[in-house]
Amino acid sequence: MGLKSQVLLPQYPIREKCKELMLTEEQLRQIMKTFHHELLLGLGKKTHDNATVKCFVTYVQDLPTGRETGKFLALDLGGTNFRVLLIELSENHFEMKSKIFAIPQHIMLGSGEQLFDHIADCLAKFMKEENIMKEKLALGFTFSFPLKQLGLTKGILKSWTKGFNCSGVVGNDVVQLLRDAIKRRGDINLHIFAILNDTTGTLMSCAWKNHSCKIGLIIGTGSNACYVEKQKNAELFDEPDGGSGNVLINTEWGAFGDNGTLDFLRTQYDKTIDQNSINPGQQLFEKMISGMYMGELVRLALERFTKEGLLFGGKGSDLLFSKGRFYTKYVSEIESDYSGVYTNCREILEELGLKHASEQDCVNVRFVCECVSRRAAHLVSAALVTLLNKMDEPHVTVGIDGSVYRFHPHFHNLMMEKISQLINPHLKFDLMLSEDGSGRGAALVAACASGKSR
Ligand code: BGC
Ligand code: MG
Repeated sequence: MGLKSQVLLPQYPIREKCKELMLTEEQLRQIMKTFHHELLLGLGKKTHDNATVKCFVTYVQDLPTGRETGKFLALDLGGTNFRVLLIELSENHFEMKSKIFAIPQHIMLGSGEQLFDHIADCLAKFMKEENIMKEKLALGFTFSFPLKQLGLTKGILKSWTKGFNCSGVVGNDVVQLLRDAIKRRGDINLHIFAILNDTTGTLMSCAWKNHSCKIGLIIGTGSNACYVEKQKNAELFDEPDGGSGNVLINTEWGAFGDNGTLDFLRTQYDKTIDQNSINPGQQLFEKMISGMYMGELVRLALERFTKEGLLFGGKGSDLLFSKGRFYTKYVSEIESDYSGVYTNCREILEELGLKHASEQDCVNVRFVCECVSRRAAHLVSAALVTLLNKMDEPHVTVGIDGSVYRFHPHFHNLMMEKISQLINPHLKFDLMLSEDGSGRGAALVAACASGKSR
């Protein structure tokens, strides 16, 4: 008992080697400064075309009032799941039905026409089941990729991200591609009223109830944020002044660093992830943060330490050494173990064929997970604070969604702590889980666009 109850620390060589994953306050402030500069380049008329952080105009100007009503369809493409939704909004109340459809790998990497035919098929199936084929409902399309929007229903895909890479879509209007697919079928009756990013949906969905919500943030498969900007600062927004005087900006911050500005802190793991990805050189900030990559970052570090003889007695397993086999949910599960207990950790290591793991191995593995998730939380915080400081509003609520934020046991607290440290001291903020931005948010944007809001 005496020996067993001793608290083990992660071992010295591993602590040393993980130092590069720990960002100092000074480094984070450097990131904030650079990110602020990149935001201005994205917003500026003369600098936008060459900017890394695009700051796309969304054409959404008004936040919801809570009095939007009507029945809407929504599509949600670009997260873990593809979904079709039916949402009924009434004053301060809503009901929602949804169905998840798989997008098989061969479609994610196939032609654009196949992708949109598949989407239209799923839509038709859902509409038949719900008996709404004839209703000609308004549809909001949550499309979570970098879109250069030219209007509420016109958006040109700039590049694919996450696991998608369909041919013939980049450079084209995604709304038109969906319309074409719907037309090819001939049996679907609806009206597309808006295309939006998931961050926009998240913001709208949260603002529906909470009027101080002015930032929408996703930390899921990918990462991105949108925020309320003054119309005069959004130089590319060409609509006549009027309305609220504001416009939502989709920052597409996942691409931060693609011009080398984050090279000073990228590690060998970050470089390997990037080289092995389907979009090398792109989305470098996102690759340090989001759920599509976090588990793999941990795995690469564990693989290295094992091969260096620092873990598992130097003996790994096929799974530990296979790309993509250490899931991001493992990081959340391992960090959910109570301190000093390694139940989830052991189970996961066994799943990976590492039955011979010692208690010290568990301590080390958990430490690596903590370093990677902490770094992600700190990077997100630095970017978020840059927006909060730039907006300079006395109190802003940030609506957040995504699997990492939702399921990681400490992500929220890590962010609270780091933001409090970095934010201009006169500003106040909240971080709020935003439920179902891709559905309700899409309906809200469609509602405003279709004139059904009052
Ligand atoms: C996309 C964004 C999206 C984010 C979160 C990124 O890869 O570029 O448009 O908002 O993922 O889903
Ligand atoms: Mg989503």
